[in-house]
Amino acid sequence: MNKVFILTILVFSVFLSGCSILSVEDLQKEEEILLPSEPQFEIKDCQVEDGDTFATILEDYGIGYADMLEILDSSSSTYDFTSIRLGQPLRFAYDDLGQLKYFEYEKDKEEIVHVSLENGEYKSEKIDIEYEIKTNKLSGTIEESLWLAGLDAGLTEELILEFADIFAWTVDFSVEVRKGDSFKVLFEERYRDGEYVGINKVLAGSFTNAGEEFKAYLFENDEGKLVYYNEAGEAMIKQFLKAPLKYKYISSGFTYARFHPVTQNTGPHRAIDYAASAGTPIMAVGNGTVTFAGWKTGYGNYIDIHHNDVYETQYAHLSAYAKGIRYGSKVVQGQVIGYVGSTGWSTGPHLHYQIRKHGTLVNPAQVDLPPGDPVREEKKAEFEMVMRGLDQRLN
Ligand SMILES: [Zn+2]
Repeated sequence: MNKVFILTILVFSVFLSGCSILSVEDLQKEEEILLPSEPQFEIKDCQVEDGDTFATILEDYGIGYADMLEILDSSSSTYDFTSIRLGQPLRFAYDDLGQLKYFEYEKDKEEIVHVSLENGEYKSEKIDIEYEIKTNKLSGTIEESLWLAGLDAGLTEELILEFADIFAWTVDFSVEVRKGDSFKVLFEERYRDGEYVGINKVLAGSFTNAGEEFKAYLFENDEGKLVYYNEAGEAMIKQFLKAPLKYKYISSGFTYARFHPVTQNTGPHRAIDYAASAGTPIMAVGNGTVTFAGWKTGYGNYIDIHHNDVYETQYAHLSAYAKGIRYGSKVVQGQVIGYVGSTGWSTGPHLHYQIRKHGTLVNPAQVDLPPGDPVREEKKAEFEMVMRGLDQRLN
């Protein structure tokens, strides 16, 4: 980033500080135990509040403008302090003369940026936050919803969401779950200084839907990535087809400002338009349920497919629907659902295709789904050993 720009941000976004001191004076206990000869520092903790900038926070903690620039400069390769985020904790440490010795910014759940002042020079480094990890397991039976049953069984909201995400491509929690369905989850919890701070990761889980049990196991694939697989070693998260049809070219990409030839307005086009001959078959990009198949103003003949609690895909300007495609139809990946046309506000045959993630239109070209590859043959034996171990701990 250019310096003038940074300065402008820093100078003109000065607000009265809201970075309050949470614990005013607190001798650093760890230092006392681990390094008895080290001086004890006065510690001030705060967090980034609404309206704060890096400059105003530092000013509040006795660090002047010139030093702030020096810190920005010297730490630029470690962390860009102009992008500090609301709610993140900061800690300032002073010696008994009131001189700043170091400060720390917790950039996320994994790392702290530590900036120390030594011989008049600022030095910055990233430090991994250390957690104590404990394994736990919980199970429950559904009366109304996974959400309520999860809370009842003692799962945190975070854990329920994570569990639902792992199984989202296997079970459609919003339509398929019924009373009597059950779940089990084996997971790791994080503790920091003895206090529970959240989930580390889910190691394994099972979901029984209408008497059929689905299982997921976390396993490190040959690229060193942690991926959830089912018992057969297939990835739990599936890929969408790259495109829902064989197209000639993309006539309009995903953009926030486009001139529309029919409406004569400039507006966002949060979709991809694929030019293709009228009648070209359109395929469902993934398994799902049709939640709409009918006329929609502007879109003409239109299909909406609900894939899971995360993704929906939508197809517009169709000339016709494939046989059996109506509200409530189940579709599988690659199944023909309709044909290219030019119905609605359209100037020629094309498919207008869009993806919603948690309800928001996202760029289909940039949807980031993890690799859907199964466990590689060479890794199968290892996978099965890990799976047996996890099963024993889960049951
Ligand atoms: Zn379009």
